[in-house]
Amino acid sequence: MSDKTAHADRESPEQVHIAAESSSGQPPRATGSGADGNPQRADIDTRKWHAESIDDTLRALAVDADEGLSPDAIEKRRESFGRNQLSQGAQRTMLQRFISQFDNLFIYLLLVAGVVTALLGEWLDSGVIFAVVLIIAIIGFIQEGRAEQALESVRDILSSDAFARRGGRKRKIDAKELVPGDIVHLEAGDRVPADLRLIRIRNLQTQEAALTGESTAVEKKTDPVEENADLGDRLCMAYSGTLVTAGIATGVVTAIGDRTEIGRISGLLKDVETLRTPLMQRLDAFTKVLSVVILGIAALTFAVGVLIWGRDWAEMFFAAVSIAVAAIPEGLPAVMTVTLAIGVERMARRNAIIRRLPAVETLGSVTTICADKTGTLTRNEMTVKTVRSGVRDIAVEGVGYEPRGGFTSDERDLEIEKGMLAHEMIRAGLLCNDAELVRKGENSDTSFWEPEGDPTEAALIVLACKAGFSPDQQHKDYPRLDSIPFSSERRYMATLNHDHEGNHVIYVKGAPERILEMCASELGEDGPGEIDKDAWMARADAIAGHGQRLLAVAKKDVSEQFEITEGEVERGELVFLGLFGLMDPAREEAIDSVRVCHEAGIKVKMITGDHAATARAVAQELGLKHTDKVITGRELEQISDQDLPQMAQDVDVFARASPEHKLRLVRALQSKREICAMTGDGVNDAPALKRADVGISMGQKGTEAAREASAMVLADDNFASIQRAIEEGRTVYDNLRKAILFILPTNAAQALIVATAIMAGLVLPVSPVQILWVNMITAVTLGIAFAWEKAEGNVMKRRPQPVDEPLLTPFVIWRTLFVGAILLIGAGTLFLTHNDADGGTLDYARTMAVNGLVMGQIFYLLNTRYFSAPAWTAEGITGNRVVLIAIGVCIALQLLFTYAPFMNLLFETAPLDALAWAKCIAVGIVVFVLVEAEKALARAGKHPFARDFSQPAENKANREA
Ligand code: ATP
Repeated sequence: MSDKTAHADRESPEQVHIAAESSSGQPPRATGSGADGNPQRADIDTRKWHAESIDDTLRALAVDADEGLSPDAIEKRRESFGRNQLSQGAQRTMLQRFISQFDNLFIYLLLVAGVVTALLGEWLDSGVIFAVVLIIAIIGFIQEGRAEQALESVRDILSSDAFARRGGRKRKIDAKELVPGDIVHLEAGDRVPADLRLIRIRNLQTQEAALTGESTAVEKKTDPVEENADLGDRLCMAYSGTLVTAGIATGVVTAIGDRTEIGRISGLLKDVETLRTPLMQRLDAFTKVLSVVILGIAALTFAVGVLIWGRDWAEMFFAAVSIAVAAIPEGLPAVMTVTLAIGVERMARRNAIIRRLPAVETLGSVTTICADKTGTLTRNEMTVKTVRSGVRDIAVEGVGYEPRGGFTSDERDLEIEKGMLAHEMIRAGLLCNDAELVRKGENSDTSFWEPEGDPTEAALIVLACKAGFSPDQQHKDYPRLDSIPFSSERRYMATLNHDHEGNHVIYVKGAPERILEMCASELGEDGPGEIDKDAWMARADAIAGHGQRLLAVAKKDVSEQFEITEGEVERGELVFLGLFGLMDPAREEAIDSVRVCHEAGIKVKMITGDHAATARAVAQELGLKHTDKVITGRELEQISDQDLPQMAQDVDVFARASPEHKLRLVRALQSKREICAMTGDGVNDAPALKRADVGISMGQKGTEAAREASAMVLADDNFASIQRAIEEGRTVYDNLRKAILFILPTNAAQALIVATAIMAGLVLPVSPVQILWVNMITAVTLGIAFAWEKAEGNVMKRRPQPVDEPLLTPFVIWRTLFVGAILLIGAGTLFLTHNDADGGTLDYARTMAVNGLVMGQIFYLLNTRYFSAPAWTAEGITGNRVVLIAIGVCIALQLLFTYAPFMNLLFETAPLDALAWAKCIAVGIVVFVLVEAEKALARAGKHPFARDFSQPAENKANREA
């Protein structure tokens, strides 16, 4: 459902009649102007524009409202005023970011341990602890920087556009390019791009909460107000950053960038996007609980070591701290942040721009997508194929915007001539129209026609050209005096034109049902006669049955008047002219995407403003599931709140629906626990977009209001991008789960080794500093690799992930104990078999235990790349470059740890021989084989805790049914 107005219904030149000096044809000279006629910056910055008349404002800014600024003036003003941009608010400095890394429970613990060990004179240990703290902080700093950078680059993609009149033409420009004196057109849904003195308005309302905190809309005027009026009372101004909620307007830019009112209020400017998502919050809460439990265990170990085994309390204290640090998954939040940020970046590359971070996760859980039809599921490339007047059914040849092709009726060629009903219909379509057809390309071989504005309207221009009309000539012969723009609620557009001879006429085009309601007669060959509405509805159904989009045209001759109102148009006195049928082909890629969504257990629903029969035909072409029943907006209104949820689930096609219907549908679906993604582009779609679990707006034809309400913007307006974003969302979610599945068991193993030894009164197989080392290098190298993991082959073959799934599923607990135990036994055995045996030393045995542990983790990393698919394939081992790099770095660090003399000194390690390495690697292989065996069991459906991984969406759904 679109407010096509975004492109199409900007005021046309005929509408702007401003009593300024413009009539002289010479741009006025600024009152406080410099030698070149351009206004002086000091003068512009200090004036009270709200108290100035329109004439004075235009004069001061040296601009003609009909012409706009010349390229020369724009250039000069840009030099002296700069760009229309707010300077960056105070951002966190690098130093602040670095310092914030130390603000963390684990770091405090380590710092305390470092100080205590230093006080005890253990300089080496304390040095190592401080070094570890520093390295953890540096790594956190780098990772966070990486994440921030990824999000920043995505944010930059969303620049906003403005419609400005320059050099006599209205143009779409980047809002950053505006300069004082630019003439800007506004309409419902726009964000005001700079501070404007309004010069012409029609029912303009703005919402100025960003500036005044007042959330009710303000009705604007053009008369000047008192000089000392409050910001909220300056009704003739539209301020940068506020939203247009209704109406249209033209204004002249009085301030840009930091000189605007919003620019002056610092602090309000940056809506800081936090890096926390629901999953991360749950994870934070989970880690807190886990930390308390682990601290308890560490304290217990300390007590057992000191009280039962009588060991040195300082040594036990350090051991207890190392247990805590090793067991607590402190690296997890960083892994999450990076994973999410990389997900956001990947989605942006696939045309889905995330505005709110939590959407990344929610996307993975979406169960229903409600999509607009036009432009999202279809190409929005309109061609008129049928012209249906009261007497004839005419077929139109040609496709696309090339104005070439003839007409046939009853399979015979037909010339559209003056006097024919079709001739008047086509003229109505041409005049009641805001689009333009422009020729693009260098030479005649490569040039092509492109619509500027609403494609539906552009198609009517193409039709007129095919029928021999010259659009420019028609606009000259029948100039426009006034217009009512199209909106999805109104479902029609109207214009008032005259023929220079005192004959004024209202042309209206819109949805047939709507137009028929407003008609009292129909035009026959002998003038207006009685209208047969049922016959017209039947004709409309016949055209819609071919999947064509419908448009009706009507007119009304009026006496001399210069304005039209909705009341007059809707009074029911129009003369019906006929129907157009437009073809808008489905997007090929949307057909594929719908299929993929169905396979992934996601329902796809189409909510369109179009006619029911058109909607059904397109839905069938797209392969939607339940197309036998189509509910229209009107029927929807009759359905009670109790019945709606079930119906919303059962029906896939909603026609003639308007934005309020969307809101009701989202609510109904959510009450059935559906996780709903909803698309929208108009200003009135904002509530539904906000309400949806993932509101999706259109980057190309969407309004700023819709964008701001949405969690994600589609850069290409394409349904296929939603499906891809969901795929990425699922991948991100999978990667987060994989990171958890990797980190928890490895952390458990690290801590278990020390804790078990102390509890049993044995020599520690791994010293506290060594544990810190292992924890640090594996957490930063191995754990982080999941952020770059690609989607598994079956991501879109599984049902959606439940949003409230607990983090600690029985499976994760099982895996933690299973892998933790293997690693404990493996490393423990390596230690025990080499300590004191065959002349081995403690250092040597510990070095083996550490390397055995790390090898185990490296192999387990490969296991975890796939939840249930086998990892021993070439792809499984070499498929993720980052995993290979992480493993390479990890091995290099272990070699350093084992062989570098200073490391031998610091960590009390000893160089190993080849056989020892073979044994360490063997531990890794044992882990790998056992976990693969476990996964095979899961694939066979015999794993008591891992049932979910093997079920494809369809089977699962069938089973549930
Ligand atoms: P969707 O909601 O899927 O984008 P849509 O584009 O058909 O579908 P609307 O833009 O609300 O939805 O249009 C509803 C109806 O209004 C159309 O079916 C058509 O009959 C009519 N219409 C569309 N564009 C115009 C226009 N520019 N001028 C007049 N009538 C229009």
